[in-house]
Amino acid sequence: MPPDTARADAERYQAAIRYIRAKVDQLLTLMGTRPLRHEELDDDTLLELDPIGIVGDSFGQVIAHLNETNLALELARGEIRAIFDAIPAAVIVVGADDRVDDCNRQAREWFFGAAEADQVVGRPLTEVCVCAELSHGRRPEPGETRLSGRIYQVVTSTVAGPDAAGGKAVYLLFDVTPLKQAETGLRLHAKVFEHLGEGIMITDLDDRIVEVNPAFCRITGHDEADLLGQGQELLDSGLHEPAFFDDVGRRVREHGWWKGEVYLRRRDGGIVPLLRTISEVRDQTGGLTHHLSILTDITSLKETQTRLDFLAHHDVLTSLPNRLLFNDRLEQAIAHAVRDHDRFALLFIDLDRFKNINDSLGHHIGDLFLVEVAERMKTLVRRSDTVARVGGDEFVVLMERVGGQEDAFRLADKVIAALKQPIQVSGHELHMGCSIGIALFPEDGEDAIALMKNADSAMYRAKDAGRDGYARFSHELSEDARARLALENALRVAVRDEDFELHYQPILDAGGRVVAAEALVRWPNGPEGANQPGQFIPLAEETRLILALGDWVLREAVEQYRRWRDAGLGLDYLSVNISAIQAGHPNFADRMIALLDNSGLDGGGIQIELTENVLMDDIEYSRAVLEHLRGHGVRTAIDDFGTGHSSLAYLTRLPIDSLKVDRCFVRDIPADTNAAAIAAAVIGLARTLGMSTIAEGIETAEQEAYLLGVGCDCLQGFRYGRPMPAGVFEDWLRNRAGATG
Ligand code: C2E
Ligand code: MG
Ligand code: MG
Repeated sequence: MPPDTARADAERYQAAIRYIRAKVDQLLTLMGTRPLRHEELDDDTLLELDPIGIVGDSFGQVIAHLNETNLALELARGEIRAIFDAIPAAVIVVGADDRVDDCNRQAREWFFGAAEADQVVGRPLTEVCVCAELSHGRRPEPGETRLSGRIYQVVTSTVAGPDAAGGKAVYLLFDVTPLKQAETGLRLHAKVFEHLGEGIMITDLDDRIVEVNPAFCRITGHDEADLLGQGQELLDSGLHEPAFFDDVGRRVREHGWWKGEVYLRRRDGGIVPLLRTISEVRDQTGGLTHHLSILTDITSLKETQTRLDFLAHHDVLTSLPNRLLFNDRLEQAIAHAVRDHDRFALLFIDLDRFKNINDSLGHHIGDLFLVEVAERMKTLVRRSDTVARVGGDEFVVLMERVGGQEDAFRLADKVIAALKQPIQVSGHELHMGCSIGIALFPEDGEDAIALMKNADSAMYRAKDAGRDGYARFSHELSEDARARLALENALRVAVRDEDFELHYQPILDAGGRVVAAEALVRWPNGPEGANQPGQFIPLAEETRLILALGDWVLREAVEQYRRWRDAGLGLDYLSVNISAIQAGHPNFADRMIALLDNSGLDGGGIQIELTENVLMDDIEYSRAVLEHLRGHGVRTAIDDFGTGHSSLAYLTRLPIDSLKVDRCFVRDIPADTNAAAIAAAVIGLARTLGMSTIAEGIETAEQEAYLLGVGCDCLQGFRYGRPMPAGVFEDWLRNRAGATG
């Protein structure tokens, strides 16, 4: 064979082999990866494989060769497939008919529901693909594509087919979602860092500033360049103790973070309040690398808070501290005074008749007036003192560090004088008096409540004493008041429970016969020092409990007299004391008459003792009442005669049976000749007026002899008998009758 021919043959042969290989590839694709079998190669196939007949008829040779090639290819293919499947990207080959031509494991996992290859290959992509976008016929676009919520970097290429018709598309999809997220995250972080209203500062473990954001610079007034590499001393406000930072550091170490209010110094020297969060920043291995501080400017928050605070603690009208704040200051003042062994004064100021201004000129003028009053008061006190408005027209002044009460009195005088100056309000000229109560710490109260209460009660004393003045709190007064209240309550209970007794003191005639007895009330269970009538009767009168008590006394006396009369004790009458309140009651006479009627006594047997003052108050009325009673057989007597504004001339106009000469005239007989002369005159006069006389308080024989000598009709006193309980009196009387009779 000439070399030319031989070379041409060899070339043809090579071309044939390349062609066959390509075709084999095609075939293998058609048949899967099985070795090609003889029977499968029919004439048509062969014709397709070898259209130009280069292989000719040597069919067996071709088959052998093909099988050989096939095997080698098969091995290569296995290797390629392993690599193909190991690629961490999805590879999908789609044929011209839109069927899946091939795909790797990653593709099946991501896009074909992890199906086996034979379930996917050869089937239409729209049918087998589980990705919504692709199953709707969309093809992945080169570049970044979002599929099933993830982001893929897509590379596409085409593999040309043997003829123009059969091209294949190869898609390579890399999942770049995490990358993208990280990227977006970083971008977001950067954005947040840049634009956050909160200041951010990152410090390293040496406490040097390594990063700040624009907001931080804005808050502190420093440029980023000034701050980076600096320590935090640059920002120290000087307002926090070192212990504060130690504590913050400890908390960050213990909990990983800390949050609280801090003050930083701005570049211009100003102080800015911030809400600061400090957290630890750690690397992947957990090692501490930085500290991150987030700082919120709370200046305006603080301002609002301050404003709210002010409103909560001040009177809106006058802007003076209100009761709440005042109590606070008072508590503080007490603490300081205790610590420093100091004194302070509390002045409770009440405007006199402020209501008049409100009522006559309206609340608006009243308000303006109060504002003016507040202004005046503010000018009178020292800076350290507090003026507060604690009620409509009530002010208090806390006067710190006073030497003694004189300091407080001086201020009280100043306040009174200042308010006396006319106050001009909307064309009205107003004058105002005030009453001031003063309490000093610690003498007048140990705590805020006691001090306020006592200053208040002193203020009432000042008012009682006739307005426009001041008074200091006095313990005696309040103890008196307390005791009085306790007594009043006890008395009320006793009246309700009728916890009283009547004792009877004999009244004798000049011949020594016991003609009557005076009923004197006793309160055996009454408190020590208050169970004598001289003590509890005035209180009973003040509280008008005397009405009920007097009723009881009358009932009891009437009842007793009826029993003694029935027992034949031989008393002409029982004498009962009637208080002014009782006598003044419009029903007094009627009630008494009803009582006597009910008792079965036909009127007689009871004498009432009234003091002259009661009778003189309204002499016509008294006359009517006494006459009415006398008409029903009631005897009338004037008690304690000589101690009141005695006017015998008037007395002649009243229906009076007896005069009782007061013990004070009897007591000093015969030593005090004046007293003796008065007693004698009274007795003589009474006789000429047709009244009988009873001398009270006779203790001695001399007194008795003298009084009998000047014509006294009846005698009463310890000389004859003390007031005795009914039973004792009865026995005493019987014994006496037995002895004398
Ligand atoms: P009174 O009506 O002038 O009563 C006489 C008072 O003098 C009684 O005091 C009596 O114990 C006292 N007394 C009598 N003889 C002597 C004496 O020789 N020496 C001394 N030192 N004292 C003598 P008492 O019982 O303490 O009563 C005081 C006052 O209380 C009475 O003065 C009377 O005003 C009032 N009182 C007593 N009981 C009643 C009552 O039932 N109703 C009213 N409204 N007042 C009463
Ligand atoms: Mg009496
Ligand atoms: Mg008397």
